[in-house]
Amino acid sequence: MKTKQVCQVITTTPKLKVKTNSVPVLVRKNVSNVFAEKVQEELNIIPEHIKYELAYYNYKIVVCRMLVEEYPELKGEKPRGWSSGTWSSASGIYFQEEREIIVAEKFINYYTRGLNNQKKPGCILRHEMGHAVDKVFGKLFTPLSETRAFKLAYNKDKEYIESLQLSKQKQLSYYLQDGNSGKEEAFAETFANLLGGGADVISNDCFSKYFSNVREFVNDKVLAANL
Ligand SMILES: [Zn+2]
Repeated sequence: MKTKQVCQVITTTPKLKVKTNSVPVLVRKNVSNVFAEKVQEELNIIPEHIKYELAYYNYKIVVCRMLVEEYPELKGEKPRGWSSGTWSSASGIYFQEEREIIVAEKFINYYTRGLNNQKKPGCILRHEMGHAVDKVFGKLFTPLSETRAFKLAYNKDKEYIESLQLSKQKQLSYYLQDGNSGKEEAFAETFANLLGGGADVISNDCFSKYFSNVREFVNDKVLAANL
């Protein structure tokens, strides 16, 4: 008896990624509940379209006690653009490859050497998220801060700042670093500013004044972007 040949038609449906605005938050065990809740609250008020992009590209938020405990390799190292101090005195970092936005509850006060609580986790979260946003809102992962339009805006602001007194230039030097660094920091801090405050106390007072062109750029390309 001949077996009937069955022609099997295999249909493959492409796996569609479900659009979600849920950016995972990983809280380390030694973080206080109050701090973890505060970070979550701050994340909740980030505009939805930004969270959709971050979730789509698998970004996550890590909430840890201290950066140098979570990443011991940072211990004793000086963050990019800092004139003094080490990562022990920082409470935020961003890792592009791992797609991690990290906020730490505690840091060493550079002046008093005491262990301080980070009282404004939202400011840290927004700044580090700004680095991620710089990447995901750029086309094919060319960061927005490397685009021609951004450089035009940034250079206008930089030119203006360089016409001011030296003390002002020094105050803003973190955002005027050479290469991509200054541009990336100006982008991230402007993003944070626009959403309610950045990591740098100085910038909250004067960013809109000194980085007005960058501000307009970030607002147009990210906050007002209709995705
Ligand atoms: Zn930064």
